[in-house]
Amino acid sequence: MSDNHTSVRHIQRASVQVGGITIGGQAPVRVQSMTSTDTADVEASVTQIAELAEAGSELVRVTVNNEEAARAVPLIRDKLLARGLDVPLVGDFHYNGHKLLTRHPACAEALAKYRINPGNVGRGKRKDEQFATMIEQACRYDKPIRIGVNWGSLDQDLLARRLDQNAALPEPLTLAEVQREALILSALDSARAAESLGLGHNKIILSCKTSSVPELLKVYRELASRCDYPLHLGLTEAGMGSKGIVASTAGLAPLLLAGIGDTIRISLTPEPGASRVKEVLVAQEILQCLELRSFVPVVIACPGCGRTSSDYFRELAENIQAFLRRQMPVWRESYDGVEEMKVAVMGCVVNGPGESKQANIGISLPGSGETPVAPVFIDGERDVTLKGERLAEDFEEIIEDYVKRTYARTEAGELLGK
Ligand code: SF4
Repeated sequence: MSDNHTSVRHIQRASVQVGGITIGGQAPVRVQSMTSTDTADVEASVTQIAELAEAGSELVRVTVNNEEAARAVPLIRDKLLARGLDVPLVGDFHYNGHKLLTRHPACAEALAKYRINPGNVGRGKRKDEQFATMIEQACRYDKPIRIGVNWGSLDQDLLARRLDQNAALPEPLTLAEVQREALILSALDSARAAESLGLGHNKIILSCKTSSVPELLKVYRELASRCDYPLHLGLTEAGMGSKGIVASTAGLAPLLLAGIGDTIRISLTPEPGASRVKEVLVAQEILQCLELRSFVPVVIACPGCGRTSSDYFRELAENIQAFLRRQMPVWRESYDGVEEMKVAVMGCVVNGPGESKQANIGISLPGSGETPVAPVFIDGERDVTLKGERLAEDFEEIIEDYVKRTYARTEAGELLGK
């Protein structure tokens, strides 16, 4: 198996339509998320899906684990549509997907995509039959699928066969190499089987998730070089808090920068009581840091040090980021390109003016021992100097005014200003 991934740049990914969203081809990398509610609880599921979609999740996956969940899916979809939310719903099936999709045609129709884990389709002879039934339903309802292989639920029959074959080789591969190959083959063989059952080549997305960053990199580089299916990326069980964010970023960034990955999910474990939306925001931030997509204006803030006279600049940086996020739903509707704006909030004169000049708008707060005034820079030029208690409000007004002047457009979409 090769770690060389340069060839994947030249593989044009197939383009798959999932509801109103395109994945692969020339489409941008899509952000997706997954609910944690009991799918059978329609109200709770609608509320959480709406939150995720409003935060920017372009697809939302729900578990469809029993009859009640399957019955709830079309109701959830209808309620979302009634709220004006046409976010594609992806059904996550394990073991009984063949039964649920067959017995609940309204569920099969309401879902925009079916996620099938080849390791959890069934055991022994029944596995192929049950897989075939799910593919038949995908063909009947003209739905794409994701073959989602997972390190923790790898097809054990396939792994056993590969281990036997490996043992007979004059120079056997290591166990890790055999496992990696089994993971990739599980995805590729299942995709081939789905196509031989009549599913279109442009109806298949693949994923091979692991919880180890180095393994994830090796698996996806190899997988990407061996097929042209669009790839869903994610580190499974990324973890809580900063560990989950760091591990996901470490795993996804090298792949995304190499052009691997058409859709991503950040599998964070939320802190107790915390919103599920964080996984969407982190996914957006990763894509924005890599300059692959822009979602919301960025605040560039220095870390602060002994020259910082108070915590005020940290508060200001946080408040300005919150202000930008609050304004975005309105700005997005009216102002083209505003999501690419950069706002700098700096703690003293050492790097403050320089960094502020690089941003569209920057403010350099006074450090300890400096005159208590805050120069504001607009498009690299010093503009006004703020001071006093209304400094934060004045700075927000300056940003609002800049957005209107710079990104405003007429009804015909003609740009004014820039
Ligand atoms: S800009 Fe000033 S306050 Fe901020 S880290 Fe640099 S020296 Fe410290």
